[in-house]
Amino acid sequence: MADNPLESMRETERRLLLEIEGRSLCPFCGQHVKPESRIGTGSKASGVFCSLNCFAEYSVLELSDRILGVRKHLAADTRN
Ligand SMILES: [Zn+2]
Repeated sequence: MADNPLESMRETERRLLLEIEGRSLCPFCGQHVKPESRIGTGSKASGVFCSLNCFAEYSVLELSDRILGVRKHLAADTRN
């Protein structure tokens, strides 16, 4: 377990994405991902999506979450 809360969040996300990939489900829309339409970065731990649209929408959400996480981390740091 990582000490950094941002790292442990990413590790949890990676594990979830691998589990979802194992069930051939799209992490964004939840639909079955057909073998011929797998979209992603090439790493299963980054998620495998059913369409380019789902990949793009998920990437935007992931970036927003990371920005919020970094802001919370910085806000917590300045309080100490
Ligand atoms: Zn999808």
